Amino acid sequence: MTIKEAIEKLNDLERREFALHHAMGILDYDGNTVAPKLSYEPRGVTMGILAEEEYKLATGREARDVLDFLKNRTVELGETVRRRIELREKDLKEMESLSMAEYAGFATLMNEASAVWHEAKEKSDYALFAPYLEKVIDYTKLFAARVAPEKAPYDYCLDKYEEGLDSKTCDAFFSALRQRIVPLVEKVKASRQPDDAVSKVYFPVHKQRMLSDRVMAIMGLDRDRCTIGETEHPFTTDFTRNDVRITTKYKENSFLSSLYSVVHEGGHALYELGGDPAFSYTSLRGGVTMGIHESQSRFFENIIGRSRQFIELLYPDLTELCPEIGKWTAEDIFRAANRSEPSLIRTEADELTYPLHIMVRYEIEQQMINGSVNVRDLPEMWNELYRKYLGIVPSCDRDGILQDSHWSGAGIGYFPSYALGSAYGAQYLKRMEESFDFWGDVRSGDLEPIRQWLGERIWKYASLKKPAWILNNAMGEAFDPSCYLDYLEGKIKEVYGF
Ligand code: ZN
Repeated sequence: MTIKEAIEKLNDLERREFALHHAMGILDYDGNTVAPKLSYEPRGVTMGILAEEEYKLATGREARDVLDFLKNRTVELGETVRRRIELREKDLKEMESLSMAEYAGFATLMNEASAVWHEAKEKSDYALFAPYLEKVIDYTKLFAARVAPEKAPYDYCLDKYEEGLDSKTCDAFFSALRQRIVPLVEKVKASRQPDDAVSKVYFPVHKQRMLSDRVMAIMGLDRDRCTIGETEHPFTTDFTRNDVRITTKYKENSFLSSLYSVVHEGGHALYELGGDPAFSYTSLRGGVTMGIHESQSRFFENIIGRSRQFIELLYPDLTELCPEIGKWTAEDIFRAANRSEPSLIRTEADELTYPLHIMVRYEIEQQMINGSVNVRDLPEMWNELYRKYLGIVPSCDRDGILQDSHWSGAGIGYFPSYALGSAYGAQYLKRMEESFDFWGDVRSGDLEPIRQWLGERIWKYASLKKPAWILNNAMGEAFDPSCYLDYLEGKIKEVYGF
């Protein structure tokens, strides 16, 4: 076999893997949007079979031969093939840590756990979900022990979502956040709250759909490559740079909820749509880590979307689609959209208290994976941590431990990405403000310079570069959480006047 032949085989292998991923992703998307409730059962059968095929393909003789051949010739390979080999090896290690039967069992569990979690959340009945969560934790521990026995199990989980991240870095990050956020939250609690009546106006769903279209246009989301669907828990699914799906949930008396879901998921979509086309159908397609991903979505959602300039830009559309909003000014909406107060639901939390929600989950996950906490006791632990960090306690599990879908999809270790991503975004902002008229562009609705900045430094690389490289490349200096804290203090000052 020549190197050229080996690369052709690798291309063919990854195309076939893409096809399976594509099929499973469409089923998953369908299950989360329009499929009937009981479809989880046949979907589980199909998912199990496709997962077996995926396993066979990735661990088969042919794949292994190509990998071994190229691995021994890395000096003769270009950067893209070297990175593909590195990513394949990492995935293979993960996959091979389970037998094929275990791997298919895991896929089936994921499908069931997701369906049960939906039901448990609807009924606010944690006991329904607990046995599944227990199995998810067992699988996670099994992966950790087999894939990275040299690491603390939770460090394996963190690295899975943010390559290179460990508890030590995370602890330092959260401790820096705590020091400045907690006193600020106390100060806000003692202040007069902005009136948020505007956020509760009746805004018909069909008009909110039109608002989504306009927001997607402002963001520069190409509708020939990106569609919007409706779901219970908004998410983004990406297949190639020509097929990205975002979702939202409309609530008639809470238009900001869907608006910011669209902007958030739209940020994820822009990242996916901006990848180098040469990476399509290879393991380099798609964003590199969840931390970098969330740094795009939360940048658009909060830094741009919740800014005074963006709200002023959107004001004519808002009042045209919902004339009642005209009773308030753009400034009123800006203040309502940035009202900060301890609340129970992470996805609806304001920018300042948001990282506290993440800290609760971070501490629980550490206990779940490194410790020996009883799964039955988790709701109590959850409530206790909410009391400690936010000073409030949920009255039911739906508003507490059952609120997020992540654990039902084995996404243990994902949450810190949200806080890190938010912090990365503040540092991108600092750089952009230095190089062009960032706020003037947002106010005029010309987001092209922003897309260009992110596209050139982050999006085009997809998974080619590691997150640390991407961050350095974008920021031109080491990551520094104090940028984020300065940004948060500035924002609170703008809203509360101190
Ligand atoms: Zn997100």
